[in-house]
Amino acid sequence: MRLFAGVFLIGAVVYAQRSVQEFETADGVVKITPIQHASLVLEAGGKVVYLDPVSGGNFSGLAPADLILITDIHGDHMDPKVLPTISKSGTAIFAPAAVAETIKTAAIIRNGETVHTGPFTIEAIPMYNLKRGPAPGKLFHDKGRGNGYVVTYGGKRFYFSGDTENIPEMRALRDIDVAFVCMNLPYTMPPEEAAEAVRAFHPKIVYPYHYRGSDLNVFKNALAGSGIEVRILDWYYKS
Ligand code: ZN
Repeated sequence: MRLFAGVFLIGAVVYAQRSVQEFETADGVVKITPIQHASLVLEAGGKVVYLDPVSGGNFSGLAPADLILITDIHGDHMDPKVLPTISKSGTAIFAPAAVAETIKTAAIIRNGETVHTGPFTIEAIPMYNLKRGPAPGKLFHDKGRGNGYVVTYGGKRFYFSGDTENIPEMRALRDIDVAFVCMNLPYTMPPEEAAEAVRAFHPKIVYPYHYRGSDLNVFKNALAGSGIEVRILDWYYKS
């Protein structure tokens, strides 16, 4: 009995902290659950989609994947070890070519390409650094290597930026209902630059993610009066 109560309590705490977000669409609800940093799960139409699942996140109680989207090769986005733990027979993986060199079962999708899979349309959006890198002349994310994604379901468009700076391709996005946008230095961009990019493509709702060490008040204040709803969630909760 004591053991049962303990398990129940842990479960209750985990779910309270997961902050499931729900969005109405023409084909029913889309549920998005932050897992950690850049990892999240999207559920819609009876299908389960993971974005950048990596070890260290809390996957307990989540259904196995129908689809896994991976943005880039870095360890906070691509983790070969975690994939079998969330996969089942028939799980599909879409990823850029650089990821498919390691994740051999991934189908390659390149910047600018669109695929239709199940009830989803997946567009691969460029993500890259304009100026920030580990050494002069080098960038953390080279143009063409990684993919951000726009996932469309039930007429609603969900954008996941991956690791990027304030690039023209992001600024040119249109009709985004819900955006998940990275910010952190030195790897991507500071919150004020992220806000500038978000103002340009003007999603209805924006969530900062992949924001470790960033001042989210700067981001929120920079978008005050823009008509864009900023929703802040804890992506670094201790589970
Ligand atoms: Zn990253």
